[in-house]
Amino acid sequence: MVIDWIRRKQDGGELTPEEISDLIIHYTEDAIPDYQMAALLMAIYFQGLTPKEGKAFLRALISSGQRQDLSGIPGIKVDKHSTGGVGDKVSLVVAPVVSSLGIPVPMISGRALGHTGGTLDKLESIPGFRTKLSAEEFRRILGEVGGVLAGQSDSLVPADRKLYAVRDVTATVKIPGLIAASILSKKIAEGANALMLDVKVGEGGFLPKESEAAELAKLLVTWADENRLQAVALGTDMETPLGYAAGNAPEVVEALSILKGEEGDPRLATLCELEGTMMIWLGGKTETLSAARQAYGDAISSGKAFRQMEAIAQAQGCARGIFENFELKVQPKKKTAITARRPGVLTRIHAQKIGWGLVDLGAGRKKSSDPVDPTAGIYFIAREGDKVEEGDTLAEVVWSHLTDAIKPLARLEEAFVISDSPAPKRSLVKFICDRDGLRPVKDLETLFT
Ligand code: URA
Repeated sequence: MVIDWIRRKQDGGELTPEEISDLIIHYTEDAIPDYQMAALLMAIYFQGLTPKEGKAFLRALISSGQRQDLSGIPGIKVDKHSTGGVGDKVSLVVAPVVSSLGIPVPMISGRALGHTGGTLDKLESIPGFRTKLSAEEFRRILGEVGGVLAGQSDSLVPADRKLYAVRDVTATVKIPGLIAASILSKKIAEGANALMLDVKVGEGGFLPKESEAAELAKLLVTWADENRLQAVALGTDMETPLGYAAGNAPEVVEALSILKGEEGDPRLATLCELEGTMMIWLGGKTETLSAARQAYGDAISSGKAFRQMEAIAQAQGCARGIFENFELKVQPKKKTAITARRPGVLTRIHAQKIGWGLVDLGAGRKKSSDPVDPTAGIYFIAREGDKVEEGDTLAEVVWSHLTDAIKPLARLEEAFVISDSPAPKRSLVKFICDRDGLRPVKDLETLFT
């Protein structure tokens, strides 16, 4: 039967919801081999999915495991998800900020994928932090602390984990209907009521074109709404890395500095503020977005958000005071600088090249069984648009495990482009999509009102 489905999709036909349900059930039970699933995925990659097929995938994925009931925990449960990028540590900031205000945040995150980083790997770079929680533990921590950050469990959407692994190694991740089904299945099964979505646009994510990201955002918001999950999606820039650090522990260091209210990278700080504000508003804590923005700022300046991050870390296995002198606890054994080979303007830092360079350095995985070097990463010293002289430090690269880092260092260096022309202007947020549809964003400030 699978062979008929593969042929039908190759010929541009449609699968019925019953066939998709059978496909997922049998695949989860290992009754369909990966090679047949890979062939079907490739046919879908070229022919696309109809909305009916996409929604059938969403339902089938949710039904592959249990659906968590969080109704015993009062309040609107708000989660946040990014489609993945380089240096994107926004979740590490907004989860403690929002949950410190009494809005429950049940966050199920993923691992690094391809050249993109993963929240779970970042969390696991914190000594002692456990991301593998039972469903009971997940609910207990959410109820007691207000925020929990964990990975998918065996009982929650098991089909997605299996399907995702095959998509990853067969270059079939980029199917909008399947990305939407994959993301939403986890959020619906985990029991969230509202969802902040960050759909990355640019070479550092999975969707380089704005039109593709917009299509995905519309699918996500519409299908979420049909499943009683209120969602807002932002299309945000991922041509260049987000923030001044990329890599697991380095990103935790940067997220902690934002939580402490230190002046950070302006693009990162703005995106955290924007997404945090929207989550607070989605959580029903404030009537208006401007009041939500105020609450976001207060949570950081009062130290409440930072203390909440400590509380979450302790509840998930870390020692008391884990974030005191955190840098010393995750110190890399090796470091080196990338310097400018010529004077000029740093016109470009290519996000994707940084991502792959970091995978080579050990911050990500080439195959799922690869160990990760939690200390590996890069700190950007110069930023796009800066004037540099020959020999100026552009970035500092840090790591511990690798003995020969020549290849990754060369790959990272290639990401920096120095020329005589000015750097391109980038808009941080390109569009917003909610129940009222998709609109371009010309002025960021309008999103806060
Ligand atoms: N993130 C997910 O969870 N699933 C996808 O398919 C892509 C990004």
